[in-house]
Amino acid sequence: MNERTIHFSKTDGLVPCVIQDAKTLRVLMLGYMNEEAYTKTLAEKKVTFFSRSKQRLWTKGETSGNFLHLVEIAIDCDGDTLLIKANPQGPVCHTGADTCFNETNERWDLATLEAVIQDRKANPTAGSYTASLFDKGINKVAQKVGEEAVELVIEAKDNNTELFLGEASDLMFHYLVLLTAKGHSLNDVLDVLKKRHGK
Ligand code: AMP
Ligand code: ZN
Ligand code: ZN
Ligand code: ZN
Repeated sequence: MNERTIHFSKTDGLVPCVIQDAKTLRVLMLGYMNEEAYTKTLAEKKVTFFSRSKQRLWTKGETSGNFLHLVEIAIDCDGDTLLIKANPQGPVCHTGADTCFNETNERWDLATLEAVIQDRKANPTAGSYTASLFDKGINKVAQKVGEEAVELVIEAKDNNTELFLGEASDLMFHYLVLLTAKGHSLNDVLDVLKKRHGK
């Protein structure tokens, strides 16, 4: 079967749903929907499951406030699984962890780093170096990028791997802070690079 309609199980009326963070693409949790939960999710733009333990509709976040704000629903190749992209309002797992797969799912990449930097801009915390950079303003951040670039150039001439990688990291971090301070994202840069690709 290859049609893109949802096949709710003939026995219990449910379809499994993999929930993915729309920004970081991390897998957050797995839940089940029946047709009513699916319709409610589309209507209210908050992910609602059918809870097998509670045997009722369950809007994720209904008591914790940690809603999953719907971005997109994709149906798999044979229609028996949904992949749902959402923006979590808070920790997704009832243990307080960001995801229900924290142990196995831990990842660290540029998108994750960018998300942390954006969060420091939106919710500045006392003692955060990143927040203090935003506080100093765009010119100061741009100056830091320049300094780190020069430091990287200097280390490139040497043969100290640790110092070189350290300066490469400093440059990348401050570069991302500058992008964020200017109100842009890595995706904006990737869009430009994509257009150039193959020219
Ligand atoms: P919430 O939907 O976040 O308001 O949580 C309500 C209840 O649902 C909690 O007390 C947990 O029992 C359960 N729960 C919340 N999050 C999860 C999850 N990610 N996986 C399984 N159960 C959960
Ligand atoms: Zn399938
Ligand atoms: Zn969990
Ligand atoms: Zn440096």
